[in-house]
Amino acid sequence: MINTNEILKKYDIRLTKTLGQNFLTDINIIRKIVNEGELEPSDFVLEIGPGIGSMTCEIAKKAGRVVAVEIDKRLIPALEETLSDFSNVTLINEDIMKLDLNSMTGDWKGSLKVISNLPYYITTPIIMMLLESEIEWDTLIFMVQKEVALRMAAVPGTKDYSSLSVAVRYYSEPKLCFTVSRNCFIPKPEVDSAVVKLKKRELPYLKDVDKEFFFKIVKASFSQRRKTLLNSLGTQPWLEGGKNTLKETLGILNLKETVRAEELSLQDFANLAKTLAQHGSGV
Ligand code: SAM
Repeated sequence: MINTNEILKKYDIRLTKTLGQNFLTDINIIRKIVNEGELEPSDFVLEIGPGIGSMTCEIAKKAGRVVAVEIDKRLIPALEETLSDFSNVTLINEDIMKLDLNSMTGDWKGSLKVISNLPYYITTPIIMMLLESEIEWDTLIFMVQKEVALRMAAVPGTKDYSSLSVAVRYYSEPKLCFTVSRNCFIPKPEVDSAVVKLKKRELPYLKDVDKEFFFKIVKASFSQRRKTLLNSLGTQPWLEGGKNTLKETLGILNLKETVRAEELSLQDFANLAKTLAQHGSGV
């Protein structure tokens, strides 16, 4: 088993907050996260931010191929040591946001999964990049701050429901797996974490909705979440016909004039996007 403190000492590595370096030290939690992946030899796994490789080893025991992308070059010698027994792991010293993901997965025929204890400073950009990417991912498993996990898995009508919840549901079926105490990390972060699993899905009613326009509507609707839709979305300069058209659209869709963004399901947003596009507001 990997002893995080020993390895950090051996390679004289001081962890840095700027790169979101909170390393998991509890092997039971690591195995629990990896188990959520239901890994098979036919699986390709991308791990973002392997750290010193504690989770990478557990992934490599089960998956066919593993690519681990670590931005911090100081960690590479330690990673090479902890991963030396595994011939199915490729290490890449790069910023995940700068990589061409397609070229990495090549012509792999099996499932593509991503497992990551995400660096906190860049959680949402990485999640959005993967959700929107062209790569054919099947499952995404992320450990994130508990508050972000709750937003990702939230349903309409709850306080955590946000534009992130809508984006997650647009691409996937989310599951809040379990929470992880801040005591399981070195150094100890200020908040607890949670693991979320996203299974890719395609919803038939989204097929004929313009994606760009859909997200423009979602973003504008949640921009002032305490306001009604008429006062958030309805006041956008790009909305043809402004509040009047929106009022009419809400009527067509059997939605109250006082409705707020947090009450609308993914399908409601899809219907809004389709109907408003017919009024000429589409991008
Ligand atoms: N996987 C390890 C674990 O669970 O103990 C480390 C997780 S730590 C929360 C996040 C890791 O992501 C760090 O090793 C950090 O250096 C790395 N990282 C931060 N930003 C990155 C980026 N843009 N691209 C790739 N790796 C990054």
